[in-house]
Amino acid sequence: MSIYSIRHINLYEGTLLTPNMETIVLAVGGNALLRPGDKGTAEEQMLRARETAENIYPLFEKFKVVITHGNGPQVGAILLQNEHSKDITPPMPLDICGAMSQGEIGYMLGQGFHNVFEEKGIEKKIACILTRVIVDKNDPAFQNPTKPIGPFYTKDEAEILMKEKGWKMIEDAGRGWRRVVPSPMPLEIVEKEIIRSVLDAGYVAIAVGGGGIPVIKENGKITGVEAVIDKDLASATLGRDIHADKLIILTSVDQAYLNFGKPEQKSIFEMSVEEAKRYLEEGHFKKGSMYPKILASIKFVESGGKEVLITSPEKLMAALDGETGTRIYPSH
Ligand code: ADP
Ligand code: MG
Repeated sequence: MSIYSIRHINLYEGTLLTPNMETIVLAVGGNALLRPGDKGTAEEQMLRARETAENIYPLFEKFKVVITHGNGPQVGAILLQNEHSKDITPPMPLDICGAMSQGEIGYMLGQGFHNVFEEKGIEKKIACILTRVIVDKNDPAFQNPTKPIGPFYTKDEAEILMKEKGWKMIEDAGRGWRRVVPSPMPLEIVEKEIIRSVLDAGYVAIAVGGGGIPVIKENGKITGVEAVIDKDLASATLGRDIHADKLIILTSVDQAYLNFGKPEQKSIFEMSVEEAKRYLEEGHFKKGSMYPKILASIKFVESGGKEVLITSPEKLMAALDGETGTRIYPSH
């Protein structure tokens, strides 16, 4: 056997660069790039990406990590730019806008992490992987679009758009008319083997941005669809598909709570999947924010994951030491 094949085998098995390291899917929330009051300028988002990296960089010495993220504000801005320049340059469909946002956010996070790794002497390189996620064309979500996206329109504009583009639009809490798109369940990550190999070769990956680009697979062929996949659910699917050990969800709260926002609010330090299911049914977690995180946690653990940790970027290192955070673990 030549030296090249030995190297190849070692690299492929991940034994050379990453001995016995556990794999983590690290889902970062909107606050990794934007804080309340931020306008969303490039400088602000670059700075926030750096701050996120500064808070959590030690994690990357100990684990193989794939970072996933949402794209709500960024894809919203792309749709607005589309809308305002539609007479000059053709607007792009939502799947292409999603792809644009993966590149944009992957670049900003990549820069932040690259520079912090450099300063802290962490020898890790980071790559953004454009990611597609397979959904079922018969998913009931396609009959019932619920996820509001993009700019607000007047009633007259909305009527024209519904007619001309076939969009479904709703009146959004007195703020104007808005397009709604389906939010189907993620079934499988198209680039799963590629992401696994990147981690095993010792690199950090950024993937499944904005929940991934939703695609439908028919007779082996893949077509993009105009929909939005929840990023926490897509992260759990990625975790299952690459056999990750842990899912870490970083968000704007240090812990999940029971009776959230009520006088009897109580932080959850840990819960079994059974308890998580019961709390979910009892309505402790708000739809559209904590609910999908808990549902994703349940799915990840039930598909073989060892544990989920929910906390904030600022508290991640303390949470890994057992000081704060919320854990979801399998029932034995
Ligand atoms: P992200 O961008 O990280 O996905 P979200 O806003 O979607 O952020 O979700 C985090 C938010 O979930 C918190 O800021 C909090 O207001 C809300 N939330 C809803 N229910 C709960 C709960 N039971 N415990 C903690 N936070 C909750
Ligand atoms: Mg969210």
